[in-house]
Amino acid sequence: MSRIMDSSPEGRQKKLFTPGPLSCTMAVKQAMLHDYGSRDAEFIDIVKDVRQRLLDIAGASPVEWSIVPLQGSGTYCVEAAIHTAVPRDKDARVLVLSNGAYGRRLAQICAAADLSHDVLEFGEAQPYDLAKVERQLSSRAYACVAAVHCETSCGLLNPVEALASSLRARQPGAAFVVDAMSSFGALPVRLDRVHFLVASANKCVQGVPGFGFVLARTQRLAQCAGNARTLSLDLAAQHDEMERSGQFRFTPPTHALLAAQQALRELEAEGGPAARRRRYEHNASLLVAGARELGLRPLLPADALCPVITAFLYPRHARFAFADFYQRLSALGQVIYPGKITSVECFRIGCIGDLYPNDVKHLLKCIGQVLEDMGVPIPVP
Ligand SMILES: *Cc1c(COP(=O)(O)O)cnc(C)c1O
Repeated sequence: MSRIMDSSPEGRQKKLFTPGPLSCTMAVKQAMLHDYGSRDAEFIDIVKDVRQRLLDIAGASPVEWSIVPLQGSGTYCVEAAIHTAVPRDKDARVLVLSNGAYGRRLAQICAAADLSHDVLEFGEAQPYDLAKVERQLSSRAYACVAAVHCETSCGLLNPVEALASSLRARQPGAAFVVDAMSSFGALPVRLDRVHFLVASANKCVQGVPGFGFVLARTQRLAQCAGNARTLSLDLAAQHDEMERSGQFRFTPPTHALLAAQQALRELEAEGGPAARRRRYEHNASLLVAGARELGLRPLLPADALCPVITAFLYPRHARFAFADFYQRLSALGQVIYPGKITSVECFRIGCIGDLYPNDVKHLLKCIGQVLEDMGVPIPVP
């Protein structure tokens, strides 16, 4: 095999096989080469266009739903959704479903806000136990139930639709908050019974980091005024200002919005979320098949794998050390991701962003070369 020296066609730009921030197109980066005043009519039109395009992607009616963009990374938006959804009432209780790092983060958000909450912990990378959920939902009243759609820490898709039907039957009043950060834009989520669906500009939408957004039911949002225990993470207030003036309340990440507008045009040109999902699925199936040939095994069983990100078990060989593996791949222009579960040693490879089958094939070649250079036999034991 010929040695790979520099992988990247554009020179020094590395390929990001990560769950965000991720590889963006040149046109998305170029869209940022304008300075706009945040109160300029042109910028206000751009914000309006981005909100409308996000609604279209979700297939959400503008009568019932609103896109509320918010500065910061995805976590800021999840925190805002929970703050906004839960009334300032001592008895208001939150139920958190968790099977990984992002589920745990929901619980941390509740703890930091001093919200009464229960956590149903299913274990890392373990599917939700719906019978257990039903029992919990029958045991007491909840003001809010929070769950993660794609648990990015291991690449597990959670059954949000099944949860919605349990909620409809057992907790008709509870606000349902779904963290759909790493799925929105590619993997569909049925919206019935959901009140707040949280996502970010720099995952499957393929924009740059700087803001996230919440797809919120307008009627519910109207009932949430005054709930938030923070000024800046108040979605009801942010929504009101958006509707009143078309503006953010505080300095918006203007360049990130320009990038998002271009990214959303590209999503539409690709054929929308269904087409994007097919590309990611193609990437992921090549990745998993190629990795298996090298002897690398996914953490999850084949029928539980999702196209967003795949966790692979560390090879069991004395010469394998993740830090070294990572550095060598990075030197070849290939950026992968460490694991984020504590029970098993894994690394993760994302298939989202401006990545195509040829990029995945190249990554696999680089992984093969790096393992060989490290003295790990292929297929790895
Ligand atoms: C990326 C991600 C987040 C947000 O993480 P930030 O670092 O705050 O952007 C939240 N939940 C899930 C499931 C994610 O994948």
